[in-house]
Amino acid sequence: MKSQSRVLQVVVDVPGLQVGQVFDFRWPWPDPPPAGTAVIVPWASQRRVGFVWGASDVSEVPPERLRDVIARVDSWPALPEPLLALARFASTYYHASPGEILLPSLPEPLRRVASFEIESPESGGPQARWAGRPRRAKPMVRSEAASWPALNADQQRAVDWLAARVGQGFAAALLFGVTGSGKTEVYLHAVRQTLDAGRDVLLLVPEIALTEGLARRVRERFPDTDVAVMTSGLADGARAQAWLAAAHGQARIVVGTRSAVFAPLRAPGLIIVDEEHDASYKQQDGVRLQARDLAVMRAHLAGCPVLLGSATPSLESWNNAQSGRYALLRLPNRAVAGARLPKLRVIDLRAHRRARGSAAEAGPVSPPLLDALRACLAAGQQSLLFANRRGWAPALACDACGWVADCDQCSAHFALHRARLFRPQAGKASAGRSNALGYTLICHHCSAHRPAPAACPACGNPDLLPKGQGTQKIEAELAAVLPDARIARMDRDSTRRRGSGAALLADMDAGAIDVLVGTQMVAKGHDFPRLTLVGVTGTDSLLVAPDFRAEERLFALLMQVAGRAGRATDPGEVLVETRLPQHPLFAELLAQDYEAAAARLLAEREALNLPPYATLAVLRVAATSDAQAQGFLDQAREAAPAVTGVRIYHPVPAGVPRVANQARWQMLVEAGTRSQLQSLLGPWLPLVAAQAGARLRWHIDVDPIEV
Ligand code: ADP
Ligand code: ZN
Ligand code: ZN
Repeated sequence: MKSQSRVLQVVVDVPGLQVGQVFDFRWPWPDPPPAGTAVIVPWASQRRVGFVWGASDVSEVPPERLRDVIARVDSWPALPEPLLALARFASTYYHASPGEILLPSLPEPLRRVASFEIESPESGGPQARWAGRPRRAKPMVRSEAASWPALNADQQRAVDWLAARVGQGFAAALLFGVTGSGKTEVYLHAVRQTLDAGRDVLLLVPEIALTEGLARRVRERFPDTDVAVMTSGLADGARAQAWLAAAHGQARIVVGTRSAVFAPLRAPGLIIVDEEHDASYKQQDGVRLQARDLAVMRAHLAGCPVLLGSATPSLESWNNAQSGRYALLRLPNRAVAGARLPKLRVIDLRAHRRARGSAAEAGPVSPPLLDALRACLAAGQQSLLFANRRGWAPALACDACGWVADCDQCSAHFALHRARLFRPQAGKASAGRSNALGYTLICHHCSAHRPAPAACPACGNPDLLPKGQGTQKIEAELAAVLPDARIARMDRDSTRRRGSGAALLADMDAGAIDVLVGTQMVAKGHDFPRLTLVGVTGTDSLLVAPDFRAEERLFALLMQVAGRAGRATDPGEVLVETRLPQHPLFAELLAQDYEAAAARLLAEREALNLPPYATLAVLRVAATSDAQAQGFLDQAREAAPAVTGVRIYHPVPAGVPRVANQARWQMLVEAGTRSQLQSLLGPWLPLVAAQAGARLRWHIDVDPIEV
């Protein structure tokens, strides 16, 4: 008689796993749980939550070492097959273990073994029940029911395109709409069509700060529908509840950031990726996955349409739309009647010195920008001042002897910050304290921090000078020249506390802020009808960055931030300060001509054989010495099998060659096609891993956004 015992392959998230690595456990009871079921398994002397990946009758693990599953989790259904297929795809494409892909998408409380109660019924094997609080039914919020504006012809065309495809299998479209053209309105109508067809919706946004606003708009429109929000910004309990609501098919709409691409929706009927060009969709640590690309793959596997929206599409998506692989849906005009795209002006900083110190014009911005800020304030309207750096200044230097405050662990300057950002750790009483002036030096690479010195440590000069300016300095100096303005700052430092970002946005909405100074965070998505002026400072460094995507990214950023101005009927104005006004990017920006910029950049990419005309991967390593890092990559290069169409460049030091006392090197792999690249990586990476052993930290980045 056949034994009822089955071997289950289980995926877990533990460090140092290899591609496709799964672990065998015995299921000695009847009815082995299907793939996608969460299980609790023994792990050395501990226990872990994992997912069943597959089952078989045999194992390569000797029977005496094969351990029993502790329990199956029966608090939520097994993950649906298309989601498992997505994890399988991501595991092979990004060269990670399926556990590293799947487990991080499970909120922490649902991964904590201690939060489960285990029961052993008479038959069927032990069951684990999550002991967290059950989700309370959402009280129905009935304001008035939000009204649905009549769509304009362009919006209607886009919605019709989608409506015809809901329930009809995979289809992909790029919704190319200028800022304020009503892309969100198209999403909302498409959501309605999908819900009406009995399917669920996954809506991805790049920023935590944008999730709440969008979720609010969605809830207003669908007051009877359960909407789950999934971001890392939520408290653990809330994340667990949102995940469970999706897994049970209770939440029919999921709004979330990158990791929500793995949300356990049962039957997605539409996947939307808002601001699809945004770099936040690319994970920059752990597994380097690209959530936008995975969203397209998920739609493919689930057999549903996917909609990628942007005013400045990624060149990859734009190229796909040009080649006909994606449908191109255009929204060329602003949606609000009478609203037009803002007027842009480039201020040549070489002609307008900031004249710091002269009483009349002292200030953090050029005179024309200051005049515009004053006029805007006088007219009772709001302005937005974008700066590229947070903190007080990107560096602190001594003009007498040339000393610069450098991090001693990294090849980078310390940034200067006003006020203390870190609590001193126990036992390190002085670390992190500000000096008497309240300035702290902080390394943005390794987070090392110390009080700023009162005088130059090299020559004793007491007049150390901040170099360049960050948001803190702009905010403070603006307050001096615009004493009547209510000025606020929005950046990573000012929004550390949960809810503080939302509070700033609410103040802006309520008109309690006249001038909002901020970083990338303020550039995206927000809709402030009274905002008519946008000033842009300090972006030249982005234009000359060595990264081949720098220009694409700067153009998108400038269009995005410019798009915040004049969204209602009051005309908007955008002033961009630069020392490189002759750069072709500014002509395209002035004309707000994304298509011209995209055509120029794509021609450059084609000539240089860069994505989307080639596929890249980067092998990166951190080691104790340059020699060790370089040696590792040299050796990896020698070990690489020859694959047609693939070229492996020589190792080079990384952009920041030393971080936290580790030497960082990288090696570029270029291939004509994805499959060529994968035919190299498949056989090659196990050799690289074996060669690295446990002593080196390395990773492969497929489709890197920075090289
Ligand atoms: P986007 O997402 O493209 O930036 P939004 O969807 O936020 O644009 O729309 C911009 C503004 O236009 C919002 O205030 C929105 O309410 C308004 N809007 C969008 N579509 C319409 C429409 N069909 N009729 C009137 N107003 C609209
Ligand atoms: Zn000095
Ligand atoms: Zn450092």
